[in-house]
Amino acid sequence: MKKADLHIHTTFSDGTYTPEEVVKEAARKGLSAISITDHDITDGIIPALKCASKIGIEVIPGVELSCEYKSKEIHVVGYYINWENKWFQHKLEVFQKARERRAYHILNKLRDIGVDIDEQMLFSMTSMGSISRMHFARCLVQAGYVKTHAEAFDRFLGAGCGAFVRKLRITPEEALNMIHRVGGVSVIAHPVFGGGHKNFLKKLKKMGLTGIEARYPHHSPAQTKKYERFARELDLTVTGGTDSHGSSESEMPIGSLSVDIKAVEDLKKARDIQEAKNKVILDYCSDKDES
Ligand code: AMP
Ligand code: MN
Ligand code: MN
Ligand code: MN
Repeated sequence: MKKADLHIHTTFSDGTYTPEEVVKEAARKGLSAISITDHDITDGIIPALKCASKIGIEVIPGVELSCEYKSKEIHVVGYYINWENKWFQHKLEVFQKARERRAYHILNKLRDIGVDIDEQMLFSMTSMGSISRMHFARCLVQAGYVKTHAEAFDRFLGAGCGAFVRKLRITPEEALNMIHRVGGVSVIAHPVFGGGHKNFLKKLKKMGLTGIEARYPHHSPAQTKKYERFARELDLTVTGGTDSHGSSESEMPIGSLSVDIKAVEDLKKARDIQEAKNKVILDYCSDKDES
């Protein structure tokens, strides 16, 4: 049976594998398809596609966007985005710059509470792309302030902690529109961490949401079942992925969870339906322009 892992990070955001390493590792694990879903950046897509074309594995262009609803952070993954679109890239650059400003703010807050991490090391880890709190967590482990990434979030980086700084806020509607505008389909990521209430999912469905990441490493069997039921009831596609950030257990190895290739086929169908609908709207508008 063909399998896919539809949520993977690379060194362009807070993953530890380069796009080429991701593709090779996915092939080694016997996966047929993967998606590169870095935070606010798409620079890993081309190198992954190039490598995949030699190996014969399907790479779906993706991105993971963070948004906020009622003070809760919610993540949305976009698949089949036309990532090269200029407007889309400009939006992502705004998010990346905001992440960089936030990183200086976090550094200052850490210093204020007596935690001094190596600024040069931090920025050398992220010279290629999007900086995230995960990079801080790695520095804090390396400097001996904490033993695990989880402890770094619990003690310093998480909401309510001394060095917590919010990200640039966009609404779920803005995130979905951004993905749809460049031909992508949207999926709510790890609903257990935010956005998994049925009424909220209903609202997103009205905004054009395609799927729900019901299969996720941190979902219990009961939670997976619940999200699969929501998907049936709301006519959403079930997707899944590891959210792999690297090779270690705590970073969720690639392919340690996978979904049937049917999820990929369903996403493609949804993309084609959305494209056809957009074409009808465009044709209608151009007819109106002529009259
Ligand atoms: P950021 O996007 O800068 O807010 O950083 C959040 C990233 O940190 C997530 O994408 C995860 O990769 C990672 N992370 C690891 N553990 C946690 C945690 N306990 N809470 C939030 N983020 C975490
Ligand atoms: Mn991450
Ligand atoms: Mn996420
Ligand atoms: Mn992710």
